[in-house]
Amino acid sequence: LVEIRDVYKSFKREAQTVDVYSGLTIDFEEGSYTALMGPSGSGKSTLLNLVAGLDKPTRGSVRVAGAEVSAMSAAQLASWRARTIGFVFQSYNLLPVLTARQNVELPLLLTKLGKKDRAERTAIALGVVGLGDRMDHYPRQLSGGQEQRVAIARAIVADPTLILLDEPTGQLDARSSEEVLELLRRLNEEFHKTIMMVTHDAKAAGSAKRVLHLEKGDLLERGVAATHALPEARREAVAL
Ligand code: ATP
Ligand code: MG
Repeated sequence: LVEIRDVYKSFKREAQTVDVYSGLTIDFEEGSYTALMGPSGSGKSTLLNLVAGLDKPTRGSVRVAGAEVSAMSAAQLASWRARTIGFVFQSYNLLPVLTARQNVELPLLLTKLGKKDRAERTAIALGVVGLGDRMDHYPRQLSGGQEQRVAIARAIVADPTLILLDEPTGQLDARSSEEVLELLRRLNEEFHKTIMMVTHDAKAAGSAKRVLHLEKGDLLERGVAATHALPEARREAVAL
């Protein structure tokens, strides 16, 4: 579903250049559920941003369901993203002046759905995350775990193919984390959503089917290179 081919990403700021990726190649299959781990600054959030088209690679190709993400115009990207990708940011990014229902409905405003369909879909998404009785609450009236679930409801409301999450359990207690992870497992197993989750939490990673470690711009799977398109010699080199 996600094909990353020979991707380079550098950030230039003043005289400094940070090379996050120098030739990253990896696939994420349809229906997969992957945890992305790695030290702070290793490029985990950057990878999600590239896949969602929130940032462009310096060089190389990022394809999602066959579409070259970096080739799309800003206008194309916005509606493509609303249909294809659910993004759960680390800080939730709920709008404080909108209720749970209004926050969740936002991505649908970029689709052709009418008011009635939008309301129906929104109610279903909030029901899936177990917040059917909190639809008219504002973010400040919700617990951290509930806010996180509103963010997940917003990410799934447009029935996207791919769900990207940045530290979804980072700010949650054990019980809320468990609820969120259980929900992600269901979205993957029952609703066949493809999931890419950035996490530092070993327990969260344990709920994924595949765990990748980002280190120095390479993705390692249990200590060996996960980048299967690499030539053999390079693969051994990154396997350490
Ligand atoms: P963390 O676990 O702390 O969230 P991360 O693995 O998500 O880290 P990224 O946010 O992807 O790391 O950043 C990777 C590198 O790219 C870091 O060195 C960071 O400073 C740099 N970087 C990221 N975004 C930008 C930007 N917009 N401008 C300049 N440098 C950036
Ligand atoms: Mg990050």
